[in-house]
Amino acid sequence: MRCLSFCLQFATGASKVLLCNRSARFPGRFPVLTNRYRVSLRYRPYMSIQKDKQAPSEEELRKKLSNFEYQVLREGGTERAFTGEYWDCHKKGVYECRACGQPLFHSDTKYDSGSGWPSFFAPIDKDSVTTRVDSSHGMVRTEVLCSVCSSHLGHVFPDGPTPTGLRYCMNSVCLKLREE
Ligand SMILES: [Zn+2]
Repeated sequence: MRCLSFCLQFATGASKVLLCNRSARFPGRFPVLTNRYRVSLRYRPYMSIQKDKQAPSEEELRKKLSNFEYQVLREGGTERAFTGEYWDCHKKGVYECRACGQPLFHSDTKYDSGSGWPSFFAPIDKDSVTTRVDSSHGMVRTEVLCSVCSSHLGHVFPDGPTPTGLRYCMNSVCLKLREE
């Protein structure tokens, strides 16, 4: 049940995801069963989010971030499609929050959505991001924010691939890839 709990936590909002109970026999790996696909995601203990991590102050962020990074992360801006550093990146690693360093996404969950922005089907941990309703620009969307520093990261849409059916559409400028 512990593994089941982990899986459901990982696949936020994915009601159709079930954990294979054989996972206990494969320490270090978490096979995930879906209706049609089996996805194996390697478990990396170092990816754990830092729940007691302190958010940097606004003053620190102003010094640390470039004007454009600050505009997107702290003021909810958006980079133009097909212009960011990571939309076509296929390197392995952990994508961290550019503002505070919180691990947000792993390259194992990254896929080519064709949108021109880096897209993931799940965050690295259900507690690594938070969401809220965004009614700006005449649309109702679900905004995704870093759970530590509340920086804007992008939006999540219900048109992603299995196993979650979600598309976390992120701004490259909000992320920093720590390569493996
Ligand atoms: Zn952050």
